[in-house]
Amino acid sequence: MDFNEIVCYSQTIILILLLIGALLNFRKDLSSTKEKVKSKCPSCGYNIIGSDVQYCAKCGDLLSQSDGLGLDK
Ligand SMILES: [Zn+2]
Repeated sequence: MDFNEIVCYSQTIILILLLIGALLNFRKDLSSTKEKVKSKCPSCGYNIIGSDVQYCAKCGDLLSQSDGLGLDK
C-alpha cells in the first residue's frame, strides 16, 4: 500500500468526522437560537417571539432593539 494513499484515506475520514461534528453543532445552534429569540416589550412586558419583530403585538409599541436609530425632531 502506498503511503500517500493511507494519508489520503485518513484525511478523508477526518474530514467526514469534522463535517458531521459541524452539522451537529449547526443543528444545536439552530434549535437553541430559536428558543432564545425572545424579547420583552419595554412598555407592557409582553413576551415577543421572533428576531425580526419590530412592534409589540399587544400594545403596538416600537421595540427599541437598536439604540441610536431614533429620529428626534
Ligand atoms: Zn407591549
